[in-house]
Amino acid sequence: MKDFLSRIARECVPYQAGEQPLGKKFIKLNTNENPYPPAPKALEAYKNFDFSQLNRYPSFEAPALRAAIAAAEGVDASNIFCGNGSDEILALAFRAFFDEDGQGAAFADVTYSFYKVYAAFFNVPAHIVPLEEDFTLDLKKLTAASAQGLIVANPNAPTGIGIPLAEIEPFVAENSGRVVILDEAYMPYFKQSAARLVKKYKNLVVVKTFSKGYSLAGIRCGYAVADEALVEGLERCRDCFNSYPVDRVCQAVCTAAIADDAYYARTEALVRGERERLTEEFTRRGFTVLPSVTNFIFAKHPAMGGEALYKALYARGILVRNFKGPRTGDFCRITVGTHEENDGLLAAVDDILKN
Ligand code: PMP
Repeated sequence: MKDFLSRIARECVPYQAGEQPLGKKFIKLNTNENPYPPAPKALEAYKNFDFSQLNRYPSFEAPALRAAIAAAEGVDASNIFCGNGSDEILALAFRAFFDEDGQGAAFADVTYSFYKVYAAFFNVPAHIVPLEEDFTLDLKKLTAASAQGLIVANPNAPTGIGIPLAEIEPFVAENSGRVVILDEAYMPYFKQSAARLVKKYKNLVVVKTFSKGYSLAGIRCGYAVADEALVEGLERCRDCFNSYPVDRVCQAVCTAAIADDAYYARTEALVRGERERLTEEFTRRGFTVLPSVTNFIFAKHPAMGGEALYKALYARGILVRNFKGPRTGDFCRITVGTHEENDGLLAAVDDILKN
């Protein structure tokens, strides 16, 4: 029987976002959100927003927001492209920088799983480069892929492992003949951003988000930093899809958030401290924990599969993530929570291990 759906709508394998539970109270450590609220200046901008303006479309040029981002990143406003979360920017990047049925996009086997979804959705061949045994990425192997462009999540998810800027720059230079996309969603915790390099390298696109470091996952804003010609390519694709992806409230709140870097320096330090505590405490309990530079840890226990741990924690009111698959199935990705949430997590782990 005819089902009215296109082939792609029928056959695509969508990204599975982490649960957003309604009702039951969980300690929510499953989607790498920031456990702390947005900065006071961001909250103030929201409260003081003149909602009577909402009859008008927002500016697609987002001048104040782009100027604030540009100043924070040390580039020009013409190097900034804003979108409805970095997921939207990554999707537009697939359209803007990769041809359908062309040479394709190369990325790691264990990385942000949305890349594979976008590749299939936009009909871009995917070159999957396996991470090393220890889950590090050998950039030479990525460079060896005969792809139209390369994508690296730095720091990587779900592993939490970061690549220093000193290794990223020669990689970008070596691949000057094709686009290099660096997904820096978790860079606030690593401080090795390549964003400034866009002034030097015409092939570089750095994608960032307000969802993690800025504690604004609920408002949906991300941005790309790139050479003007690449920004223009993203704008052309945006304007074939949705001219106004960043609403007026979002522009005001995110602009204000950037002005509160002292607040975010404090919350980032708290998260880094708690990450070290969780790494130590999990290691003490017999887990293998990959060396994270992010706001989450990727951990496995020798006596328990990742799914079993996920279920046992779920039963105790704690949400984490387990990614099925040969290399990731044994692990759980656990977002760093507040000190009290992490106490709850550790108590639940102790309870599981004693049974
Ligand atoms: N990149 C990576 C590596 C992520 O983990 C996420 C969050 N799931 C994103 C991008 C997307 O973040 P957002 O759309 O909230 O900006």
